[in-house]
Amino acid sequence: MKHFPVTRRVKSSALLPAMLLGFLTMSGCAVNPVTGQRELGFISEQREVAIGQEQYTPSQQSQGGQFSVDRGLTAYVQQVGNRLVAVSDRQLPYEFVVLNNSVPNAWALPGGKIAVNRGLLAELNNEAELAAVIGHEIVHAAARHGAQAMERGMLLQGAMVIGAVAAQGSDYADYIVGGAQLGAQLMTQRYGREAERESDAYGIQYMVDAGYDPAAAISLQETFVRLSEGQQSNWLNGLFASHPPSQERVDNNRALVAQLRAEGRAGGELGEARYQEATAFLRETKPAYDAFDEAEKLVGEDKLEDASRKLETALSMVPNEARFHGLQADILIYQRRYQAAVTTYDAAISRDPNYYDYYLGRGVAYARQGERFRANEDLQASIKLLPTALAMNELGTLALESNDRVAAKEYFGMAASAQGLVGEQSRAAFMRLDIADNPAQYVSAQAYINQAGRLVARVQNVSPLPVSDVTVEFRAIIGGQVVSRSVVVPQMAAGQGGDLDSTLSFQAGALPAAGQFSADVRGARVE
Ligand SMILES: [Zn+2]
Repeated sequence: MKHFPVTRRVKSSALLPAMLLGFLTMSGCAVNPVTGQRELGFISEQREVAIGQEQYTPSQQSQGGQFSVDRGLTAYVQQVGNRLVAVSDRQLPYEFVVLNNSVPNAWALPGGKIAVNRGLLAELNNEAELAAVIGHEIVHAAARHGAQAMERGMLLQGAMVIGAVAAQGSDYADYIVGGAQLGAQLMTQRYGREAERESDAYGIQYMVDAGYDPAAAISLQETFVRLSEGQQSNWLNGLFASHPPSQERVDNNRALVAQLRAEGRAGGELGEARYQEATAFLRETKPAYDAFDEAEKLVGEDKLEDASRKLETALSMVPNEARFHGLQADILIYQRRYQAAVTTYDAAISRDPNYYDYYLGRGVAYARQGERFRANEDLQASIKLLPTALAMNELGTLALESNDRVAAKEYFGMAASAQGLVGEQSRAAFMRLDIADNPAQYVSAQAYINQAGRLVARVQNVSPLPVSDVTVEFRAIIGGQVVSRSVVVPQMAAGQGGDLDSTLSFQAGALPAAGQFSADVRGARVE
């Protein structure tokens, strides 16, 4: 059992003075705070913590936001988390939240920012199983697994991620744009088998040290294996996407727990009664959240009336759940009932003012009613919580309406990375503005002298849209004199190219030398 050191480890990071650790980090080599092994690493602890802090809010938002209707449950999960943190190997600004999401999942960002979905809490049987989940996630953060993934370049960069990340349970419009895409990747990251083994093994150590019965880690993994065999899509989209369960993991955990038992160190508690009490509301209200999930699915299928009826059922059981009101309001938007939508978003915001979707929806509703100032305010509030393509596109339109071309270009440029209709609209809107400033980016022109001795340009529309009024300026130096001439092409389809005659012609003996003639695109428009 080489992989699983069961004797208490030397807390390497605690022994290293900060200066020395800094030096090691700068030289590209540091000691892993959990395993005690030396490893390459160029992301400093300060950077790790900063990434976690920056990404925590948008990552929560894209996964349904916090489960605010039962604050007691969050406090309970924090308690269990802190009990494990107290025995962990690394001091980090740990935080724990419960997300309003039915998918059974949990994740950790670098720097110790951890989240557990209510959908996972509903499946666990006791506090020790929760401790197994949280302990595992704490190790991912403490042992720098997210930072390592970034260092190894395992995350997609820039263009590759374009349009790839959508907010959970949302339609095409909720594509996350900008820096928040990093968090979305980090929380769905597959760390690899070695990292998972490490998290299982040290997570069990933390459980034992915090006074929990490590047998819960086995029962949990067994449940996972059973559920993964059932191919429940909810699980496959959730925890199992980043944490494929396996018999190997069960066997490893079993061997480690047997060893701990032999050492007399496995006598902790399961905390079943406490867990059942803390999650009582969750179980009681499960039918309401099931109805909500069905309503969300019906909205996706454009069955708005059916969805609305499901939501009424959900609301009759949990009238204070802001998400239920929020989805009712979304439906009103699809039905173009903007005034009613505003009122219903108000009802959601009064119950939970910290979820991006209510501001995004209300901003759109205000915009459709011509209330630009309020629309702008709400859309800004929404992108502070989660920057989405839809909000950026709406803000771009508003900026354009107030003749702020610079701001409009910036917003459309942000939204242009999204897929679907919003991305398409934004790309066109961006290009419409940008082509006036940079026509040569969209239409190329290459000058040459043809066999008849005329100055010609090979012109091509390299943009994805049809363009018009393409103005090409020809220049040539003839006998020390600059001669110039502009020619306009009225229409060019996307991708269309051809030769454009300048009508400037030269005698065989007086051809301009290379570098003494040119053709430049000076103007173009998109309808
Ligand atoms: Zn893991």
